[in-house]
Amino acid sequence: MSHFPCLIFLLLVCLLCGCSTEKKIDTYIQENNSIPLSQVAQELSANLSWDVAEHKAYIQKEDYYAVIQPKNDIILIQGEPYRMDFPAYLKNREVYIPVRTYLQDLKSIFFYQVKNIEEEIPEPFYKIENSSHPEVLFQEFSVMIDPGHGGKDTGAIAKNGTQEKNFNLDIATRLSLLLQEKGAKVFISRNQDYFLSLDQRIAFANQNRPDCLVSIHLNSALTPKASGFEVWISTNSKSRQYSSSLMLAKFIRSAFQKNTPLADRGVRKNAFRIIHESHVPSVLVECCFLSNKQDLEWVSKEEQRQKLAHCIMQGIHAYYIHRKKKK
Ligand SMILES: [Zn+2]
Repeated sequence: MSHFPCLIFLLLVCLLCGCSTEKKIDTYIQENNSIPLSQVAQELSANLSWDVAEHKAYIQKEDYYAVIQPKNDIILIQGEPYRMDFPAYLKNREVYIPVRTYLQDLKSIFFYQVKNIEEEIPEPFYKIENSSHPEVLFQEFSVMIDPGHGGKDTGAIAKNGTQEKNFNLDIATRLSLLLQEKGAKVFISRNQDYFLSLDQRIAFANQNRPDCLVSIHLNSALTPKASGFEVWISTNSKSRQYSSSLMLAKFIRSAFQKNTPLADRGVRKNAFRIIHESHVPSVLVECCFLSNKQDLEWVSKEEQRQKLAHCIMQGIHAYYIHRKKKK
């Protein structure tokens, strides 16, 4: 009995030491896997600014930007939320983020947007022509359509209150009908306004194994000047589906060039998770900018959203025909 208080005391000491060592290890790991934003900005030749009122840091290069808030583990890149391994933190008047976020998320977008990938496939080969066999129907061909965002995740919000998630769904629904009319089997990740995590979307793609995947988004930039469309593919050029993704992206881009007045911002690479982690040919289309007045006016008309759906369908169809010829 007389040992009992001693034991309790020892136990308490152990627990307390244990906790603080663990905390120390956590901080140690974090500090060794962190990079200050000033270094990130320097390495990416980007601008770093600090918004005192909002207590947020901005990294900006041309039309691209990221927003970082100390104590928050979400970084916004082009308005898209990415989760970091640990929250950003302030130390010696510097904001630090995980090195992994810099390498995987920031570097890929800020680096590849300036890199021209046109030379990888000869361009004329991937042009949509008037004679692109509109009469040919899809046979045994499935497409997964992924309308970006949904539910509590609104995506970008335009000055007039238009929410990206709603237009994404509208374009996706139109695209789904067009593809089905042409005989394709369609999987849609969400057909209504509800929240779906990226993990759920990726699992959906990898379970259903469609012949291709198109994720639909609308863009947003800090500068209202940025306008036009972009077609994104994964940076993983070693994946089996890389060349197919690139081909699909080029056909969709060609359809946009031909049939819309939108500025062409080209085919670009990024590690957006939906296209990076799905094991099927995948592209992400940023149809236009909600933050640009002309683009917003244009995409607010139903007939133009129908046109966007039609362009994406045309691109998928040209890809289908090209693949069939190759077989
Ligand atoms: Zn989006």
